[in-house]
Amino acid sequence: MSRSVLVTGGNRGIGLAIARALAEAGDKVAITYRSGEPPEGFLAVRCDITDHEQVERAFKEVEEKQGPVEVLVANAGVTKDQLLLRMTEEEFTSVVDTNLTGTFRVVKRATRGMLRARKGRIVLISSVVALTGSAGQANYGASKAGLVGFARSLARELGSRSITVNVVAPGFVDTDMTRVLSDDQRESILGSIPLNRYASPEEVASSVRFLASDDAAYITGAVIPVDGGLGMGH
Ligand code: NDP
Repeated sequence: MSRSVLVTGGNRGIGLAIARALAEAGDKVAITYRSGEPPEGFLAVRCDITDHEQVERAFKEVEEKQGPVEVLVANAGVTKDQLLLRMTEEEFTSVVDTNLTGTFRVVKRATRGMLRARKGRIVLISSVVALTGSAGQANYGASKAGLVGFARSLARELGSRSITVNVVAPGFVDTDMTRVLSDDQRESILGSIPLNRYASPEEVASSVRFLASDDAAYITGAVIPVDGGLGMGH
């Protein structure tokens, strides 16, 4: 199996682990990056998912170099944490524009080829915060919860064409995004995680690889928690 895969934000963190896992499984993997030097071993396309034109250009490049995208992993995301009363409208809308509308941009573009091929796999990276909420993350939580409604609507819309749309909801994962937390914050978070540790990016990647595989052909509209039990009872 050597499918054309695109992972947004695949240059570091969870996205890079997903790109590696799918490449190891034999797929041709393209990643998006915004600046700096992308990691070697993948087709790297520069793309800011808040910009429609850049998304269009990135897909064209991937299509030319490795074929229409058959597996899309929408992983790129940001946080701009702030308590509601201090949160500016820009802090709210920019997080939604990246995490939710950015995902809309790439998913919409990817489905063009998938509809033609009458098959496809779409995996969205949400968060435990989508379902449990998190003080100081109203913008992030709203954007990540939006992904669940988005995915489930698309699962209904695209199912008849054998396109599956699923969500992975990680808990706390050891990446740049969580390294900014203080030791106190880290300690208190660990206390609420039944497995009492953060996930590695590879542990999130395993679930994505499964959802993208033939073994998951009958799974669509699912939200898979990879959170050490943090969100138990979702
Ligand atoms: P990182 O901050 O390490 O990486 C974020 C990635 O998203 C980078 O590749 C970054 O690109 C990319 N990105 C951000 N904004 C844009 C944009 N506008 N256009 C294109 N790419 C963009 O985060 P993680 O690896 O930790 O997170 C990956 C995903 O997992 C995110 O969606 C995050 O919300 C989610 N998640 C993370 C958790 C965690 O504990 N770490 C928990 C739950 C969910 P660049 O390098 O150019 O900045």
